[in-house]
Amino acid sequence: MSRKIFFTVGPTQLYPTVPSHIRTALRESILSISHRGKQFLDIYKNTTDNLRAVLGIPPDYFIFFLASATEAMERVIQNTVQHHSFHFINGAFSKRFYTTAVQLGKNANKTEIPHGSSFDVKSLVIPQETECICVTQNETATGVTFPIEDICYLKQKHKDKLVALDIVSSAPFTKIDFPTADLTFFSVQKGFGLPAGLGVLIVGPKAFAKSKNLHKKGIITGSYHNFLSLEEYARKDQLPETPNVLDIYLLGKVCGDFLDKGMDIIRRETEDKAAAFYDYFDSHPKYKPAVREERFRSKTTIVIDTPGETAKIITYLAKNGFIISSGYGLFKENQIRLANFPSHSIEDAKRLINIVKYMHV
Ligand SMILES: *Cc1c(COP(=O)(O)O)cnc(C)c1O
Repeated sequence: MSRKIFFTVGPTQLYPTVPSHIRTALRESILSISHRGKQFLDIYKNTTDNLRAVLGIPPDYFIFFLASATEAMERVIQNTVQHHSFHFINGAFSKRFYTTAVQLGKNANKTEIPHGSSFDVKSLVIPQETECICVTQNETATGVTFPIEDICYLKQKHKDKLVALDIVSSAPFTKIDFPTADLTFFSVQKGFGLPAGLGVLIVGPKAFAKSKNLHKKGIITGSYHNFLSLEEYARKDQLPETPNVLDIYLLGKVCGDFLDKGMDIIRRETEDKAAAFYDYFDSHPKYKPAVREERFRSKTTIVIDTPGETAKIITYLAKNGFIISSGYGLFKENQIRLANFPSHSIEDAKRLINIVKYMHV
């Protein structure tokens, strides 16, 4: 069978160096070592050091490892919200963040607009009692991005409130302004091109202090994965539980590869591939980018309207070795979604475009 290339939005194409890192991991018995021993502590330190360099994480921010991004939503709400959270909802993932807060018994407020629309942050009123503002920076379901300058604007206006950012499908491309983001999270099977099963939550001093404060008041902030417990172990380069050692190892290695290549180059390549996709579909007679306004177009998850032809396109591309995502939920049959992560080469992106170009079936 010939090689398949995954332009799916997650899980996705592995970063090209991953197979060789897995072989090294096997050779060095990393799958059998103790998660309390020296070898693991070194792996942990390498991963957190490299991740700090890749994303520009300040030294006073904690890095916590979790099971997934979905878990991170729950941890954020439990550890920073006593009563009131606020949510921007314009797709399935931002909705899940909101639902998590409701399920945890919080008073979750929201501004909800049709899936696929973008927010006008300047005309919006956020209730004074809000403790944490929850933003999905890149809505994977619809390909709408929440510009970083809009997030800075919100923080500027609401200095007293915490800001939590879901960057699952925009990391490591999007440059996070850390003073703005009190909490930031992602999982590794999207932009980092790794096997699924690891979430990362980056917690700033104000968010950590809030969690401590809730804990002191007797509010339940979770058990082994509350921030106090996570911090206690992070200080020792460990986790409370037996973690996904392989994924933590691979994340450190891939971040090392990103740094060797240079984040500027990775970001520039992402811009170039996004431009190639958008330019092509902007002038396509039938298939058009779903997000019309350029400022809100995601560079990393590109969503195209395909009036009723999704199944046809997916089948045709699969025959040619390219696996892509359908639309999400209601858009299943009328959109396709194309990932544009560091694991996707410009050559493969161009080949994919060419196949669509000559698809007259
Ligand atoms: C994929 C995704 C998630 C969920 O990630 P898991 O690792 O499956 O928990 C959350 N938010 C966004 C924006 C996503 O794209």
